Amino acid sequence: MATIEQKGMYKVFPRSGKNVSFTHYCPGCGHGIINKLIAEACAELGLQDKTIFVDPVGCGVFTYYYWDAAHISAAHGRASAVATGSCRARPDAVNIAYQGDGDLGAIGFNNAFQAASRGENFGCIFVNNSLYGMTGGQMAPTTLDGETTTTTPFGRDPALTGYPLHVCEVFNQLKAPVYIARVSVADTKRIMQAKQAIRKVFEIQRDKKGYAILEILAPCPTNLRMNAEKAAQFCINEMEKEFPLGTFRDETATRPAREVRPIPQCASCAELFAEKTAIPAAVTDPAFAEKRFKFAGYGGQGILSLGLTVAEAARLERRHTLWFPSYGPEQRGGSANCSVVVSGTPIGSPTVEHPDVLVCMNQPSYERFAQDVKKGGLIIVDETVPVHVQPPEGVQLVVWPAIRLAEEFGVPKAANTMMLAALKKLNCTGLSGDSLEEALVASFKKKPELGEKNKQLLRQAEQM
Ligand code: SF4
Repeated sequence: MATIEQKGMYKVFPRSGKNVSFTHYCPGCGHGIINKLIAEACAELGLQDKTIFVDPVGCGVFTYYYWDAAHISAAHGRASAVATGSCRARPDAVNIAYQGDGDLGAIGFNNAFQAASRGENFGCIFVNNSLYGMTGGQMAPTTLDGETTTTTPFGRDPALTGYPLHVCEVFNQLKAPVYIARVSVADTKRIMQAKQAIRKVFEIQRDKKGYAILEILAPCPTNLRMNAEKAAQFCINEMEKEFPLGTFRDETATRPAREVRPIPQCASCAELFAEKTAIPAAVTDPAFAEKRFKFAGYGGQGILSLGLTVAEAARLERRHTLWFPSYGPEQRGGSANCSVVVSGTPIGSPTVEHPDVLVCMNQPSYERFAQDVKKGGLIIVDETVPVHVQPPEGVQLVVWPAIRLAEEFGVPKAANTMMLAALKKLNCTGLSGDSLEEALVASFKKKPELGEKNKQLLRQAEQM
């Protein structure tokens, strides 16, 4: 059987460290040392095959290249939230979140704090280098008083931007954490201590004792604009004044293993859910040519519903399909649009940059999207749209009286149904007329009489 490629996905995810002889980190970066210590601790404790790492956004984003274990990449600041899900779904695993100070201390602080407060069964390795590394050295919550960054060129001023955030000290107010400590990787002695602390985080997870957080002070020579040696000295001489090293709490000896509650196996819920959402899977049919649509107009013209109806018709025919709306303030009176992809094979991306078919219900939409339509494509515009600019060469333009027809039929709100009539009449969707009608009726499932009425209007309009 031919393999159908999932467009937009890599064929191989090269996450194994085996073939990597260098890292993406800058020379002298603390992340490289920490990554090695974590790999060593994980391997020495024999936990490699049990560990799920939750990777951050930030300079540590590529840790999946270096640790050959299970990985989940979280959105920025969400590693602790994802690790919460991971440790609940896989209580048998060793779950480790890896986060930087921008990631955990700023956007993700509440996620991390609440996870710590609940005492979730994961370990958090929190790398503090006093700034946002990956994005170019902006001030982070951990930036020192007076420290120069790209967004504090005259030094951080607490009167303007507050004081450095002490994550360990704040978390130490919570009851649940088992272990809270701060270490550094600025010199050999400190690296050895850091390794022991990292091992402890893994052991706590192996023994299911609950939440642990280890803050690691790390040099970022690139953004500190120092050589590796001076950046390490900055950690020792400046960062440690603000963030003293030490163990704030270690209750590993006295805490019992936490009871791991199994996830409720709610068969009745599953059945109920399955019954309500029993949607037959799409059938892969490479002979069916993919079609990409853009529907655009004013909010309130039912343009998003029109796109949804086409997507629903595709679903009824068991085609692969995606509907992707553009929401926002535009939905109320401004321009609104949605993209629809209908395909015989799995769809890689829901976005439509170059539609085969563009439906425009207003002038701004025409001006915005007409030039993007593919050669050989089709634009259907409502007759009220002034076409000052000709469509691109090789693109057919059809002017259709959708708004006028809806008004003449006494249902001004049905302009989108009139546009569906044009799509059906022009036979440009690749879908059958029956499916389009069925999808239209289904879109009024709360008011079936309106569904039937719109079907009749559709048929009338098609005769025009
Ligand atoms: S920017 Fe800083 S934290 Fe990021 S890799 Fe380079 S040295 Fe490390």
